[in-house]
Amino acid sequence: MRVCVIGTGYVGLVTGVCLAHIGHDVICIDNNEEKVKLMKSGQSPIFEPGLSELMQAAAKDGRLEFSSDLAAGVNHGEILFIAVGTPPLPTGESDTRYVEAVARGIGANLNDGYKVIVNKSTVPIGSGDWVRMIVMDGIKERQKVLVGAGGVVSDEEVEKIAAEFDVVSNPEFLREGSAVYDTFNPDRIVLGSNSEKALSMMEALYTPITQRKYAEDPSLPPVPVVKTDINSAEMIKYAANAFLATKISFINEVANICDRVGADVTQVARGIGLDSRIGSKFLQAGIGWGGSCFPKDVSALIHTADDYGYEAHLLKAAVSVNQRQRLIAVEKLQQELKILKGKTVGLLGLTFKPDTDDMRDAPALNIIEQLNRLGTKVKAYDPLVSQTGLRHGLTGVIVETDPERLADGCDALVLVTDWAQFLTLDYAKMAKLMHSPILIDGRNFLDRKAIEAGGFRYVGVGR
Ligand code: NAD
Repeated sequence: MRVCVIGTGYVGLVTGVCLAHIGHDVICIDNNEEKVKLMKSGQSPIFEPGLSELMQAAAKDGRLEFSSDLAAGVNHGEILFIAVGTPPLPTGESDTRYVEAVARGIGANLNDGYKVIVNKSTVPIGSGDWVRMIVMDGIKERQKVLVGAGGVVSDEEVEKIAAEFDVVSNPEFLREGSAVYDTFNPDRIVLGSNSEKALSMMEALYTPITQRKYAEDPSLPPVPVVKTDINSAEMIKYAANAFLATKISFINEVANICDRVGADVTQVARGIGLDSRIGSKFLQAGIGWGGSCFPKDVSALIHTADDYGYEAHLLKAAVSVNQRQRLIAVEKLQQELKILKGKTVGLLGLTFKPDTDDMRDAPALNIIEQLNRLGTKVKAYDPLVSQTGLRHGLTGVIVETDPERLADGCDALVLVTDWAQFLTLDYAKMAKLMHSPILIDGRNFLDRKAIEAGGFRYVGVGR
């Protein structure tokens, strides 16, 4: 099928590349010329395991192109994905201006033939109808321009174009750091629309994936496809992220109680996670959730509830537990070192989770800010940030090039991100380079005994 993906971030680029890999003819559009130039030269503007290889192969085979020309993309695609960002506004609601610009642009360039316009971006509930309205505005604006220039576009023609597109909500559930894997091995595919024609085109698009042709385990039963109305599809995305974020806040609250009563939250998590009604995933206590999705999606859902006269008490509590949790590492440093002014603290990891270069709303940012406020010098080593030299707008932190340089002269280390590399560092050597070998394991990730054998005092969260 002919596909156009608009927006080439973590979601759009991975979607475009994976759809090209399974045989579709894809054009990826971005209005950031530099990104387009980079992608045309075969380089991925983001780090995702396996992405560059697939991207280069699909481009070589002629199934994947990159452009900043929206009109060309709209002309090419029978399925048009909107995959631009929906960052949070200071009020907590979602900033939909990028979606609006793209929807208007699609309308202004719609040509003959049936098109499916797909909301892949996470958009507030009700955005399906809103996108349809904006696309219609775009069509009418083009009509005005053409008529003004002496062209003839009758109202009937506008009606005809309008009758030839449908909007589908197809929320994305991929995780940064395993986005390509998740695209080929999804737990489900959610499709929201009131058009049977649009739904069957979307099902056909995803057939190689739902039939597990590219799955790690092709013998599994087909991927479930949840076909529903647009509002429910949009709500599924918010409810999924809100549930996962709340689950983490829940175990962090339990961890804080464990810390006070002398229980070990890792044991408690194992004990409750074996209950199939609870499940063991998302029960790792630590310094809280972050990244570009959970914080903004939970806030947006709280905001939507407020708009409709409902106060989302549980979600608000999940956010407030998380805000406090992010600074638990600083509290533990204060317990260990007492005064933090004039001390040096080293952070192991900066990104909000391993295997990504994304720093959006990462807990490290709050920790750096709070330590700086308390007069502490902050250094950091992150496998990706240190390697790429990308600063991501980081301030108040010295980024070191290796773990030993990080340890040198530190009064304590804090493990912020659970990068696999951190399991095998030479902790004994690092301990010797420090003023005081204290390690706050903000993810309960390391083996306490091994760290203590290296000469460290080990402090976990809730254990
Ligand atoms: P991103 O910020 O990484 O990428 C957005 C891209 O859109 C950028 O490359 C930007 O240049 C481009 N863009 C903006 N305006 C444009 C325009 N008018 N025309 C063409 N391109 C334009 O965003 P992301 O992380 O990929 O997220 C995209 C959406 O998917 C968001 O709504 C997000 O909530 C949702 N989502 C993200 C993830 C994730 O893990 N990142 C997971 C699921 C859902």
